Amino acid sequence: MSVIYDRVALIGLGLIAGSMGLAMRRDGLAVEIVGTARSAETRAVAAEIGLCDRITETAAEAVQGADLVVLAVPVGAMGALAKEIAPHLKAGATVTDVGSVKRHVVDAVSPHMPDGVHFIPGHPLAGTEHSGPRSGFAELFENRWCLLVPDEATDPAMLSRLRALWEAMGANVDCMEADHHDLVLAVTSHAPHLIAYTMVGVADDLRRVTDTEVVNYSAAGFRDFTRIAASDPTMWRDVFLSNKEATLEILGRFTEELFALQRAIRTGDGQHLFDYFTHTRAIRRGIIEAGQDTEAADFGRGAARE
Ligand code: NAP
Repeated sequence: MSVIYDRVALIGLGLIAGSMGLAMRRDGLAVEIVGTARSAETRAVAAEIGLCDRITETAAEAVQGADLVVLAVPVGAMGALAKEIAPHLKAGATVTDVGSVKRHVVDAVSPHMPDGVHFIPGHPLAGTEHSGPRSGFAELFENRWCLLVPDEATDPAMLSRLRALWEAMGANVDCMEADHHDLVLAVTSHAPHLIAYTMVGVADDLRRVTDTEVVNYSAAGFRDFTRIAASDPTMWRDVFLSNKEATLEILGRFTEELFALQRAIRTGDGQHLFDYFTHTRAIRRGIIEAGQDTEAADFGRGAARE
């Protein structure tokens, strides 16, 4: 594949930036990849395993002369980072991010972007429960969606270039408005994560269930909950704090439905339960018919996803 950006700066060298670095290096998508992270330890590991061509101590140094800057830190840290790098950005550079929430990032980063710098937010819908520089792998984005969030002022040529990079890393790219993104992700990712965290907390609370029983007899559902609930606490704290409205809206609806099902169980309303489960089964069938999943009963364990 051919070079898409001359110099790329990766700020934050965890799962997402590490995977981007490895994918770009594997396919020669950038002439030079410069990386930096907050801690000396992460920078040392990144240098040891070759996530980038060059590591700098500060973000200000990393972005100098970069054609593409990728902000790959927790959502709550994006604003301060944007302020720090702003005076050092090259004129005409593109700045993007990979944060799991978009409205908060747009509001926190945009005010710091100098004239002549193109800020195009993004979010790859790919991940695992692992974090840190050793968790990245070049194939992470293959056949996953990456959502880009341009606005009316976005330069079409810069958007096409960023799209080309994600496609070269194996992703399918779509564009979405920031608030809509946050609502969609609240349904598909954020609320489900909170439910997983809660279920694992409940099981832990029920001291009657010994560890061995939980591990030995956990059917796929609970085992997947424990995998999701092992996700990075900083990242997920920031997701909920910064996607508050949409997550609360979805959780409100979830609670209403849950109460209705709870009531059906209490009153022995089998018809309600049967009709509800018939409806949800049809939704699953629709997803398979649309080619968005297979019948394989691996519940995502064979693939990495957020
Ligand atoms: P990660 O593996 O935990 O790496 C985070 C990186 O950010 C580390 O290099 C860390 O530096 C740095 N960092 C943490 N707090 C910081 C702060 N306050 N200021 C400056 N740097 C800080 O995280 P990740 O999974 O790659 O996630 C990065 C971004 O991608 C997040 O915004 C997340 O929402 C988004 N995302 C994650 C997933 C997923 O499933 N994991 C999927 C899609 C998008 P040190 O190592 O030096 O502490």
